[in-house]
Amino acid sequence: MQRLHLHLPDEAATARLGADLAQVLAPGLAIYLHGDLGAGKTALTRALLHAAGYQGRVKSPTYTLAEPYEVSFAGRMVTVIHFDLYRMASPEEFLDAGFREHFNENSVCIVEWPEKGDPVLPPPDIHVNLSLAGDGRDVELRALSDKGHQCLARLKF
Ligand code: ADP
Ligand code: MG
Repeated sequence: MQRLHLHLPDEAATARLGADLAQVLAPGLAIYLHGDLGAGKTALTRALLHAAGYQGRVKSPTYTLAEPYEVSFAGRMVTVIHFDLYRMASPEEFLDAGFREHFNENSVCIVEWPEKGDPVLPPPDIHVNLSLAGDGRDVELRALSDKGHQCLARLKF
């Protein structure tokens, strides 16, 4: 499954998709979330983290740009780093902060506003595009690597 289109009629549907994704994520994945402000990028990430067992509050790391969470996928502890690059002034800031080191085989990186890090961000495994559709949202999930492909192929609804 290289490409998947879904309609998410309400926030509960976004939360279900986050929970479904939490079931199929594997360490080493980089997931980039595209979409305007309010499209649901943080809502999707929050649902994913809660479904993976994180019990605290999840808000967008607008000022710190990155927030790590220790969660468990398939019984294995994994660090998920949630990035929000909206306020990043330049791609160099990403490099200077050492963020590239988070993109490794032991972590899952979820990035809001990846376009702000262009061209220094590593290529993603999965590209997610959220857009407003009536009162709900449309979402497109696209696998861009073998690893991303394997992950989306395991998605069950
Ligand atoms: P972003 O991170 O993309 O800027 P947020 O996740 O912070 O967006 O905000 C998304 C807003 O849209 C929240 O108010 C949330 O309740 C709402 N929302 C999320 N998913 C849906 C959906 N499928 N349908 C309608 N509203 C949604
Ligand atoms: Mg956000």
